[in-house]
Amino acid sequence: MRNQLLARSRSARSGLPLIYHPIYSVPLPANHPFPMAKFARLEQWLRNSNSADELSFIEPPRATAEQLQRAHCAGYVERFCAGQLSAKELRRIGLPWSQQLADRTVTAVGGTIATVNAALQHGLAGHLAGGTHHAHREFGAGYCIFNDLAVAALEVLAIGAVERLIIVDLDVHQGDGSAEILKDEPRAFTFSMHAAKNFPARKKLSDYDVPLESGLDDAGYLQALAQHLPRALEESAAELVIFDAGIDVHAGDRLGLLNISDDGLRQRERYVINLARDAGLPVAAVIGGGYDRDLEALTRRHAVVHQALLSRWRYEHEADYAPGYELDYESDYEPGPDKEIADA
Ligand SMILES: [Zn+2]
Repeated sequence: MRNQLLARSRSARSGLPLIYHPIYSVPLPANHPFPMAKFARLEQWLRNSNSADELSFIEPPRATAEQLQRAHCAGYVERFCAGQLSAKELRRIGLPWSQQLADRTVTAVGGTIATVNAALQHGLAGHLAGGTHHAHREFGAGYCIFNDLAVAALEVLAIGAVERLIIVDLDVHQGDGSAEILKDEPRAFTFSMHAAKNFPARKKLSDYDVPLESGLDDAGYLQALAQHLPRALEESAAELVIFDAGIDVHAGDRLGLLNISDDGLRQRERYVINLARDAGLPVAAVIGGGYDRDLEALTRRHAVVHQALLSRWRYEHEADYAPGYELDYESDYEPGPDKEIADA
């Protein structure tokens, strides 16, 4: 409560940009394995947190056909949007087509573009969706239809906002679609650290791959990250980080093969964000994969990257806070009223 009151007394500046659209959670058939409700739940959770005053929610516009076609062939974009994919193509994606799904998909890609733009403007920004890294130029796979990471990367290069960028993909699955789409684009460097034995069975070649053994715990995982990410950042000569903070690395995830704890996730997000920001790079984070059937556990894990963004945001905007406001960089903000509801 005290933090909330003091946060409200900050000078009137905008808060950490978070990108979200109400159509992100579209209806799916009952018992569908994809946790589509998580996007709306995450937004609700963040809005109910006691640091909601420090967040600025932004509704993104839809990605345009021109933007989508930088990463995808026009025929695939048109056929998906018109509901004309074959049953086989939809099975590979794993989601049933609907007009709502099409609208959601195009808007979520627009959301990652908006997140990148906000990060370029403000240094840090978070998307409450995104990370559809299995989508290829001409087909979708593994719950991914269009590749928001590749579209946003090619967009930001096309408009000349940066000369070079890196996609830091820490989802437990390899970023095969991004690697393939961007393989001939030397200005977009793809880094993927993933469980070697996980989907997709046939990996593509990223600019920098770190395959991990199954069952790896926090210490081994964070050590691998600290060993490889600084090298990748240097090799990429990036001026922007697009960060896929997939939480399916968590020990409790249905589809992960790793053994990462809540604390391990927190350390990971802070490490990536601080490493990039200390090097002066804007960070645009997307939530990536997460498949726990427990919606509350899933929401809290996806919120960790936004908490880490806010922690860094506070550090960088200390002057905006009222005198006497004690910034505690180490402690995350509390879930607020939702905590009682969830614990009840
Ligand atoms: Zn994944």
